[in-house]
Amino acid sequence: MGSIKLENVSKSFGEATVIPSIDLEINDGEFVVFVGPSGCGKSTLLRLIAGLEDVSGGRILIDGKDATDTAPADRGLAMVFQSYALYPHMSVRSNIGFPLKMAGIDKTEIDRKVDDAARILNLTDYLDRKPRQLSGGQRQRVAIGRAIVRSPECFLFDEPLSNLDAALRVNMRLEISELHQQLNATSIYVTHDQIEAMTMADKIVVLNKGRIEQVGSPLDLYRNPANLFVAGFIGSPK
Ligand code: ADP
Ligand code: MG
Repeated sequence: MGSIKLENVSKSFGEATVIPSIDLEINDGEFVVFVGPSGCGKSTLLRLIAGLEDVSGGRILIDGKDATDTAPADRGLAMVFQSYALYPHMSVRSNIGFPLKMAGIDKTEIDRKVDDAARILNLTDYLDRKPRQLSGGQRQRVAIGRAIVRSPECFLFDEPLSNLDAALRVNMRLEISELHQQLNATSIYVTHDQIEAMTMADKIVVLNKGRIEQVGSPLDLYRNPANLFVAGFIGSPK
């Protein structure tokens, strides 16, 4: 379970229409990448799906059910941001377990889930450290750990690697892809980096000025770009 459907979704901030109208289907288990230049509406679209912003029009269906007015915490989604947003005064264990504590889950259960997440993310030896005692990659793993503990059906990643150096980015890309498969999740991954899109996606959604230019597999987009914008962005020879 983890399908998402957008029907005629629009978003305006005051007078400014950022997303005129988007229809999109994301299937259970897919790794979907939203790609497009800075300011094209990628984060806004992700925040609409997460429920962190209200739509101006249209519907969002999660697992076939209308979730347009569902509270973010009840959507079965977990978001991983670009800025790690870790609590500096809390240990890694407390940071990862925080969403469970907020949900009123008891300590034994929290510890068990945090231990499981730490094992998956190679953080077992770092659970007592504070965020400042970690490398950039480890911090990003803690942020992912905080998403995993809630056993979401769907992960939403907003440029999670843009603060990391190039070598680490390559590693983390692989780790996120493996995690997606291991957890049998649906993932939506936002990036402005076409290499990330081409290497990670089952399906790429190319956005430009709040509109979808093309949806397809990396190979589809490379071989048959719909227009010059897509060709230019993907780097294909059209
Ligand atoms: P991207 O993530 O692709 O860089 P964003 O979704 O962050 O793009 O932004 C798309 C557009 O919406 C930008 O023009 C941005 O200024 C505008 N925008 C985003 N959030 C808000 C907001 N809360 N209020 C007003 N304008 C916003
Ligand atoms: Mg953004």
